[in-house]
Amino acid sequence: MKCFEVDGKPPDEAISVEVRDDGLYKMSCSRGHITLTAIQEQKFEVLFDLGAMALLDGYPREAISSIAASLERFFEYYITVIALKHGIPYEQFVEAWKPISKQSERQLGAFLFFYLLENKKSLAPVVLNTKPEIDGRSRSDTLTWGEFRNDVIHKGYIASTEEVIAYGNLVYQFIYRLIAELRATCSESMQKPVFHYLAKGHQTGDGKPIGTMTIPTLISLVRTNKPAPHLRDALPGLEKYRRWLYVRPQSNP
Ligand SMILES: [Zn+2]
Repeated sequence: MKCFEVDGKPPDEAISVEVRDDGLYKMSCSRGHITLTAIQEQKFEVLFDLGAMALLDGYPREAISSIAASLERFFEYYITVIALKHGIPYEQFVEAWKPISKQSERQLGAFLFFYLLENKKSLAPVVLNTKPEIDGRSRSDTLTWGEFRNDVIHKGYIASTEEVIAYGNLVYQFIYRLIAELRATCSESMQKPVFHYLAKGHQTGDGKPIGTMTIPTLISLVRTNKPAPHLRDALPGLEKYRRWLYVRPQSNP
């Protein structure tokens, strides 16, 4: 940003960073300008990508743990959006979240009832109880998402790439379905969690201006074009992006 201010054009310099939990990236360019940049993507968007990247890298088992975490953080996002839509001050929401912050079952409960409150009907089907279609496997022999996730995470089940695509797709479809539902009724409130997160970044940066940036995640709140119909169809795009990511920092345009 500083180079841009000085030169009137963006610098021909790219900096590689490791993905951070807080989404805030402090960087220094070759001229010593220090800037703080916030990634606008929500945690669930980043986590789903980490899962998909693990799959592309040949770690299907690890992919499931990130995809499962993505789903849980999506529940939190959904609850936040509905709370803010109903005029709950953000600080009050943060207080209310504390007692359930470490218990995913309680968060699921809150999510299901916020869904009911918002839609006047219960959520069906709930992703945890859904089963994917897997070639050569009967319906009765197929685990639900919840059972499969528990087997992978708690019992060390070594999932195949095909299974991860099938189960990951359940989560992919589910989150996109709910994003579409939110867009239809709460589009204004959908950006509010992002504003609060950027405000927090402001405090971290001691009030210094922070830049924002978006990254092209597979699951994306800001996406305007239609998402790929199946996770399998979305992966080639990510593969292309991943190759670009690894090449770009070394290239000198
Ligand atoms: Zn600079």
